[in-house]
Amino acid sequence: MQFSKFGEKFNRYSGINRLMDDLNKGLRTPGAIMLGGGNPATIPAMQDYFHQATSEMLANGDLVAALGNYDGPQGKNTFLKALADLLHETYGWDISEKNISLTNGSQSAFFYLFNLLAGKQLDGSHKKILLPLAPEYIGYSDAGLDDDIFVSYRPEIEQLDNRMFKYHVDFEQLTVDESVAAICVSRPTNPTGNVLTDAEVAELDRLARANDIPLIIDNAYGTPFPNIIFEEVTPFWNRNTILCMSLSKLGLPGVRCGIVIANEETTAALTNLNGIISLAPGGFGPAIAKHMIESGDLLRLSETVIKPFYKERAEFAVSLLQQSISDNRFKIHKPEGAMFLWLWFDELPITTMELYDRLKARGVLIVPGEYFFFGQSEQSEEKWDHAHQCLRMNYVQDEAKMRDGIAIIADEVKKAYAQA
Ligand code: PLP
Repeated sequence: MQFSKFGEKFNRYSGINRLMDDLNKGLRTPGAIMLGGGNPATIPAMQDYFHQATSEMLANGDLVAALGNYDGPQGKNTFLKALADLLHETYGWDISEKNISLTNGSQSAFFYLFNLLAGKQLDGSHKKILLPLAPEYIGYSDAGLDDDIFVSYRPEIEQLDNRMFKYHVDFEQLTVDESVAAICVSRPTNPTGNVLTDAEVAELDRLARANDIPLIIDNAYGTPFPNIIFEEVTPFWNRNTILCMSLSKLGLPGVRCGIVIANEETTAALTNLNGIISLAPGGFGPAIAKHMIESGDLLRLSETVIKPFYKERAEFAVSLLQQSISDNRFKIHKPEGAMFLWLWFDELPITTMELYDRLKARGVLIVPGEYFFFGQSEQSEEKWDHAHQCLRMNYVQDEAKMRDGIAIIADEVKKAYAQA
């Protein structure tokens, strides 16, 4: 079969496909230790809550109504209104339902947004999405209809006590010129668990506005829901910001509901894209989320159940890793949010791609760090060892699996260092 240019590009077995495949296979393989994917944890209190909420919705007819009707292309109106009111009341943001559109998962929102803005322009020029801090979310990397739509910058590395470190945006290196279509950051960051400081966000906002381009903030793990964020930071939005949220990490990845909060022009563009590509975003997720807003449960559960659950798991995994791997060349990015730990094995004699294969052979799935350094700018194209020395692991598995998985990682890392 002869595929089109589009077909050839999207038929590639990209990093994100490999990741989702491993996730799916791992879920079906008895005994596999899944420290790779971004599936949210099974939190008993949330499972009970969703059981109860959907039973109530079944009883009052809301569930069948959500399944039995198409919403409009912008998404379920009643949810848009409830969410706009919630954000206005909680943060004082000047928004209404005209500023919110829904997509089938926030992953597809990024596909829409990147291609709305970057790639070949009407005047023939080519624009890119600037990622101010690589490593950045692997799911962006293949989302361009055109090739080469990202430019990313290496971070500054701050060494902290206790074999920890933290990345910062290196503003001295950042170049925002007419080739940049938008700035994009995930906050908290997948893969590192980094949370950009308020000062960093303010400076990115200033740069974006000075260059008349939007700042896209991927808030899939952020506040006010699911609130997997352990630092005190201020939620950020203004009319130049495109804030992307999701119901997935709340524990509802199956409903595929992404939420984009933006100015009216961007909201209208996304609404039009929805109509063409999917007629309307799914209605089930927004119906549950509306129920959660009306009952006051959305923010309450995020703050009192989801955040503490992940915080406790992260702390447990960090202490287990520190006990299990005593080598001083091993460091952990300070876990500030999201559901991953970013491990750095300085001077590792093998790449983490090789380490991934060795771990997979022993039934442990992690994600090699190399995937997250796409779009490196020309000046940083020379080999950067750090990009081959890190890996991402999630910490959401139960205690026994975490212990077994970390013991195997410690063993393979020890062997790899010994081979130098
Ligand atoms: N953004 C980040 C940073 C993510 O980690 C993910 C999923 O893991 C997504 C966006 C996409 O999530 P979804 O399409 O489920 O909303």
